[in-house]
Amino acid sequence: MKAEQKHTPMMQQYLKLKSENPDILLFYRMGDFYELFYDDAKRASQLLDISLTKRGASAGEPIPMAGVPFHAVEGYLAKLVQLGESVAICEQVGDPATSKGPVERKVVRIVTPGTVSDEALLSERLDNLIAAIYHQNGKFGYATLDITSGRFQLCEPDTEEEMLAELQRTSPKELLFPEDFEPVDIMANRAGNRRRPVWEFEIDTAKQQLNQQFGTRDLVGFGVEQCTLGLCAAGCLIQYVKDTQRTALPHIRSLTLVSQDQSVILDAATRRNLEITQNLSGGNDNTLAEVLDHTATAMGSRMLKRWLHQPMRCNKTLNARLDAITEFKLDAGYSELSPTLKQIGDIERIIARLALRSARPRDMARLRNALQQLPELSVSLSSVSHSYLQGLAQYAAPCDELCELLEKAVKENPPVVIRDGGVIADGYNRELDEWRALAAGATEYLDRLELEERERHGIDTLKVGYNNVHGFFIQVSRGQSHLVPPHYVRRQTLKNAERYIIPELKEHEDKVLSSKSKALAIEKKLWEELFDLMMPYLEQLQNLASAISQLDVLQNLAERADTLDYCRPSLTSEVGIDILAGRHPVVEQVMDEPFIANPIALNSARRMLIITGPNMGGKSTYMRQTALITLLAHIGCYVPAESARIGNVDRIFTRIGASDDLASGRSTFMVEMTETANILHNATNRSLVLMDEIGRGTSTYDGLSLAWASAEWLASKIAAMTLFATHYFELTEMPNLLDNLANVHLDAVEHGDSIAFMHAVQEGAASKSYGLAVAALAGVPKSVIKNARAKLNQLEQLGQEPAHLGTQVDIANQLSLIPEPSEVEEALSSIDPDNLTPRQALEELYRLKKLL
Ligand code: ADP
Repeated sequence: MKAEQKHTPMMQQYLKLKSENPDILLFYRMGDFYELFYDDAKRASQLLDISLTKRGASAGEPIPMAGVPFHAVEGYLAKLVQLGESVAICEQVGDPATSKGPVERKVVRIVTPGTVSDEALLSERLDNLIAAIYHQNGKFGYATLDITSGRFQLCEPDTEEEMLAELQRTSPKELLFPEDFEPVDIMANRAGNRRRPVWEFEIDTAKQQLNQQFGTRDLVGFGVEQCTLGLCAAGCLIQYVKDTQRTALPHIRSLTLVSQDQSVILDAATRRNLEITQNLSGGNDNTLAEVLDHTATAMGSRMLKRWLHQPMRCNKTLNARLDAITEFKLDAGYSELSPTLKQIGDIERIIARLALRSARPRDMARLRNALQQLPELSVSLSSVSHSYLQGLAQYAAPCDELCELLEKAVKENPPVVIRDGGVIADGYNRELDEWRALAAGATEYLDRLELEERERHGIDTLKVGYNNVHGFFIQVSRGQSHLVPPHYVRRQTLKNAERYIIPELKEHEDKVLSSKSKALAIEKKLWEELFDLMMPYLEQLQNLASAISQLDVLQNLAERADTLDYCRPSLTSEVGIDILAGRHPVVEQVMDEPFIANPIALNSARRMLIITGPNMGGKSTYMRQTALITLLAHIGCYVPAESARIGNVDRIFTRIGASDDLASGRSTFMVEMTETANILHNATNRSLVLMDEIGRGTSTYDGLSLAWASAEWLASKIAAMTLFATHYFELTEMPNLLDNLANVHLDAVEHGDSIAFMHAVQEGAASKSYGLAVAALAGVPKSVIKNARAKLNQLEQLGQEPAHLGTQVDIANQLSLIPEPSEVEEALSSIDPDNLTPRQALEELYRLKKLL
């Protein structure tokens, strides 16, 4: 006998289904529960913190089991999906009444982190992407899909660095990779990685699958025909999604190539450092997105974040956005739009569920409500003058036919699910109305029957009732039960009452139940037909959602610009950045005291600024605000400044702060140097480079030398626009030696032992570092500060401290790092005491004293 046959029939069925879904959790429906068995049960009990029990025995062994109640399944799914797990949902599809052995069961859907579309499983204001990655000869293919909008994109990063930046930008919830994938570092520390067989990435299969999906003969129309690596990834992706959704995906109708030429490239470290949508500790507080995102709809919020992560270089598009924002900002025109947009809500995801045929009754009601707002929206937009806005207004024009269909078809407040009916509106379908009337007329009939029977037999406690087990019945109190006529048949005895049936009631019951179930069947059919009727509008609806999202982002940015007092940047094609009274968009929001605005000028005559000043002086803030203003200008947004002229920037690099990347086993210094290497290799004269305190992670002389050489390389070889903050005062000598450099500093004022930071940027180098004052401010004990001061004096006198700022020193000598003898030492060594008269000796002594 085979091992399988030793199992109970039910377990045999389970094991068969499990073998078809080996790598993911299988939720096996049994009555009111989804059960998990064996290893699945053990895993789920840990992941979900539910108890692990045992169920009887099969094949002679007890079966580990864990379960979740079906009505609470959404919550558990949400948790698992969050953890990067996938779940196969197995339902009973056969009729328990007629089946011999276990009821027939089937996996009806597979829930995976990257392909969920249920509202309950998604973060409202975040994109939820699934991606596939492919690798060949050092190059990559990468495809992403947002199943809740149908956005399907591919790109072909040339290097690991670029690939990492793309992963960071898109941060997919699920990532498919071929089982022979080599650069495994890329996949480290990610949840939701899914190994796929190599053949799923074959180019021929990919092309065939994609053509089938789009109903095309070739992919030339999408401009992706040549992107072999990208297509390999896209092919695997579409097969996986079809496989898990088990339904058509009509809303995925094109594939676009994301090219890097037109965007401002941000590497992974820069995206992190600038805290665009996530702060350095992984949260959303104090990020650029938090300050800017007051959008009216969740889909607008998601679009804004996409914009923020994809700054562009095309001044035409950027100026169109700026014009639109300017128009909405005029007379606070945005305030009229926002309430209407709020009413419209997140139709993008509703439309996706419509396409996937998983929309719920309330989705339809919300879509109807959104469509009802369009006439008002179009009135608000009737006077827009910019062609970009006019285009959006056209896409957002009222869609009366569809709106009427939904008004007619769906009840005002439908229930959550179609299961029990009550969704399709009265008057939509005659047949349905008739059966409903029958079922409803029934209650009138029951009321009449109750009254008649009461009077006829003189039983005033007589009532007609209904329950699921016994159907309709007549109930009489125990005290009056002797009054019932003989044709009443007793059905049930309760503590204080008796229940009876009569043939008349039974007949009625059949009629009611059959009309109810007829009505329900018709309703379900009409519900399915409603999807068919709406399908032709799908593309129009997707365009509508996209237009509304854009309008939302634009009105939001107009409101933000107005409220936060931002200015319109002027975009130029030259190299250079010229900002008057710039502010840090996030720091200025979180501070209680007023923010000190600062100017910056970078141009061909002034390419690098060496920034000095005390710790806490505001160096990082100043550098980051420059990067953020530049970034905002390149998404076509107003900026926190009095005025800003921003030249076309190709990349923004940052080397900021020290963060140990312990998870990947790299020390602070290693991370710092990897990031520096990336900058030195890839920056151009159109790049904006921020270097904060490089060389800190190693010994003073090593660090100084590295900082010096990197700065020199950036200034003379690359001529990148560079902000170089450093605590090595030696670097302030560079402007004397190289062209196109300048010193600026952040000032501070000492009062006795304390220090006040001015936060104002001044030309020239700082006069000292104030390290001890800052340490005192931080609460280092007074006696330690006192000892440090003594030690500092001693070091300065010995001349062991690397030569101090302001003195003209021979830089080459300094970097060779052989300590120079001081003047006193030199004078002293030149004295030959044996050849001095007493008077000369005295004179020498005076001279030495003076030199000191
Ligand atoms: P540094 O990099 O020089 O150590 P930071 O840029 O981190 O200094 O700034 C330290 C703190 O000073 C900031 O957290 C902020 O509170 C404040 N600060 C910085 N710049 C300004 C400014 N321009 N106006 C007001 N406060 C500022």
